[in-house]
Amino acid sequence: MSPPVRVLYLAGSGRSGSTLVTTVLGQYDGVFAAGELRYLWQRGEVENRPCGCGRPLRDCPLWGEVRRELPTDRAAAIAAGLRGRLRMRGLPALLRRHRRGVRPVPAHPDDAALADLYAAVARHTGARVVVDSSKLPPYGALLGALPGIELRVLHLVRDPRATAFSWRRRRGLDGDADPELMSRPPVGKAALLWLVWNTVTARLWADRAPAGYLRVRYEDLTADPEATLRRIAGFAGVDPDGGPFTGPATVRLTPTHSVAGNPSRHRTGPVPITADVQWRHDLSRRSYALVTALTAPGLRRFGYPWRRGVPAPAGAGRPARGGPAAAGGRSVGVGRAGSTGHEEG
Ligand SMILES: [Zn+2]
Repeated sequence: MSPPVRVLYLAGSGRSGSTLVTTVLGQYDGVFAAGELRYLWQRGEVENRPCGCGRPLRDCPLWGEVRRELPTDRAAAIAAGLRGRLRMRGLPALLRRHRRGVRPVPAHPDDAALADLYAAVARHTGARVVVDSSKLPPYGALLGALPGIELRVLHLVRDPRATAFSWRRRRGLDGDADPELMSRPPVGKAALLWLVWNTVTARLWADRAPAGYLRVRYEDLTADPEATLRRIAGFAGVDPDGGPFTGPATVRLTPTHSVAGNPSRHRTGPVPITADVQWRHDLSRRSYALVTALTAPGLRRFGYPWRRGVPAPAGAGRPARGGPAAAGGRSVGVGRAGSTGHEEG
């Protein structure tokens, strides 16, 4: 029997840096940046959207190899099945099953095809680690119960005022020319999604399987990109020295074969990593207050201040304190030439 496939699952809410982390990790030896694999069946197979390499997915040679081993004629049905099994309204039952120690997402006949997908990806890429940036916690829980998969969870968290602001931007699903836009939930809905997905991610993995769980904040990642990526690579079981860094905050990117994700996954060449902090100035007072009120239970837990203009202190998970002490936190990305900040998903 072949050894299990190690999957580094990026979990949490959208627009928290997962595409950046996936693309950078994909440059390390032995790592395959698969992108948001839960979308392979719909956006990849049915809609034939672009692979990270730029070709429509069905024309990508790598995915051609993988697809030959999958029941692609059933892609639409598998996609519909997944949507049904991962619905938001199923969350209370999912958490109850998790508490009782049974698999959070019940078994399903399509599970064999899902397990085959990860095994085929590992076989055809030769990767020891497959990075899946699907983010949705229930899908991660489903993966963790599949045979042949060894799951490690990287929980990416970002200030909810920043993610709510980022969600409102108009962006094509696959770049500016794409008439189909990425979803743009109102700030109130974005705030609730942030609270739910981050809380559920912590409940599923932080308490039960701390050895297989690492939490990283976007703010710490962008404050010290190289050191943070080294930490993530070590957690994934990859040589931390094998990264694409040409400076502490600059990477040289080559194309990946990621399936879906933020359009920034198509960026190549030298790319500086800086924080996108436009929300600090441009998020309205009303939106700021609304998001702060709705996400209040999670702000303290994940170390974010209530008040605007107080930079979150470096150090994942440490509670933020208002006042002069916290104001000493390192501010990043402000005043640099051009708008190269990574706001994304
Ligand atoms: Zn490709």
